[in-house]
Amino acid sequence: MKQGNLNAKNVKNVKKYIWKKKLIQVLKRIEQPDDNDYLIEALKIYPFIKKESFDIVLQHLQGKINLAKTGKKLTVAEKKYFGINPRLSVTNSLVNVLTDLGLKETKPREVLSNILNIARRKQYIKNSITRFIEADIKQFTLLSVDDERECSWCKLNANTKMSVTIDINKLIKENCTCKEGSRLALQAVVRF
Ligand SMILES: [Zn+2]
Repeated sequence: MKQGNLNAKNVKNVKKYIWKKKLIQVLKRIEQPDDNDYLIEALKIYPFIKKESFDIVLQHLQGKINLAKTGKKLTVAEKKYFGINPRLSVTNSLVNVLTDLGLKETKPREVLSNILNIARRKQYIKNSITRFIEADIKQFTLLSVDDERECSWCKLNANTKMSVTIDINKLIKENCTCKEGSRLALQAVVRF
């Protein structure tokens, strides 16, 4: 009996490991946002970017310019002044778009990549729901990465079944406090 329980637990762990690997693959090939609204919305989530710099940061997020490569590189003394890790390569073009709070982040380039990730995930959710509806799928399950970077709301909603008619992006916007945006993935509930 004890052996049986152990095996069942092992099977569960193996299954968890497999879908976690799958989930990471899904997150890696997440769609580039084609919807500017997602980028603008993600820009507004954090108080890390100066309002007057939204346009230029938008161009960076769309890949039209690269703020990490334009302008001049900060000297060690300048980085120390801003409290940035002196070993990081940071340009003045990047520093110029950040608010004081943004500058306090340990990796300034990550501030921008997090914004892009938030927009990408919203795009991924929108595209997933569109695909589900096209395939006449009525429900989906939320899959969670379940690590220390995930907020309590995301953890709580892992494995929850939801109707495709629910505006999951809105729910995430109102409840999720993950620093880099929710990393929940959607899996279709297929009925035979
Ligand atoms: Zn979250």
